[in-house]
Amino acid sequence: MKRARTIAEIRAAVAEARRRGAQKVGLVATMGALHDGHYSLIDAARRDCDFTVVSIFVNPTQFGPDEDYRRYPRALEADVAGCQSRGVDAVFTPEVCELYPEGFATTVHVAGLTERLCGAFRPGHFDGVCTVVAKLFNTVGPDVAYFGEKDYQQAIVVRRMVADLDMQVRVEVCPTVREKLGLAMSTRNACLSAEERAQAGALYESLELARRLIQEGGRSPAEITQAVRAHLAAKAPLGTIDYVEIVDPDSLSNVELAERPVVVAVAVRFPAARLIDNMRVDLPEGGD
Ligand code: AMP
Repeated sequence: MKRARTIAEIRAAVAEARRRGAQKVGLVATMGALHDGHYSLIDAARRDCDFTVVSIFVNPTQFGPDEDYRRYPRALEADVAGCQSRGVDAVFTPEVCELYPEGFATTVHVAGLTERLCGAFRPGHFDGVCTVVAKLFNTVGPDVAYFGEKDYQQAIVVRRMVADLDMQVRVEVCPTVREKLGLAMSTRNACLSAEERAQAGALYESLELARRLIQEGGRSPAEITQAVRAHLAAKAPLGTIDYVEIVDPDSLSNVELAERPVVVAVAVRFPAARLIDNMRVDLPEGGD
């Protein structure tokens, strides 16, 4: 496995792989402290592609001034070893100054989609995400890039950017990997106290509750989100709800009635970490 720390090194590694016949290059962009959610994307890339690149970079520009950039878990050497044992072909582990040198002045902004859900609570977050993802796409030149459904809005925003800027990369969205009791795997879970972690399971339970209500005929977003909020308030009292929303899977705008496929999305701030989760709900066969 090649370890590249500079843009020149990762470009050379990918160019060399292509010279040797690799037709399909896959990219998994991560912020590290890798878990089975990340490894599921890596496995998907390895299945589909001839050459798999994993980037590990805690991107400062996607964190707000009061957010957890400095406290964000880091485990670089364990991650590199994990990638090696999973058969990754190259890891790209740049320093901040490699991607954002003195004088850096460009931001990629996707309008509309980024104003909702997490965008409303984390101003500038998706600008940071899009800017770094655009840079990684330009640096690695992947044919396919793998993103997790856990960060649903991120995947939709990146798809919009790719379409709008005519980037030649296919965005694959892979299912959320969960702990046994349903909690979505996340690097930030490691920050939680034992008590917070026990309560964090309520996010998934509340999404399951929304799904059940919709599948049993509930159509009113107000009633469903109210039930979700009540569940979270009862089962996760240490958390503060940022949002509970029922949205269209493509536009991310609120639906008036849950009468076609929707995404139920929640964000809860615990003292130690802010967690998000979402679930797509399709109507039962023959449903109205
Ligand atoms: P992160 O390191 O948190 O920036 O995540 C890197 C990529 O892994 C993103 O595309 C995430 O959506 C994806 N990811 C994170 N957690 C999970 C999970 N539990 N299941 C599937 N994908 C995930």
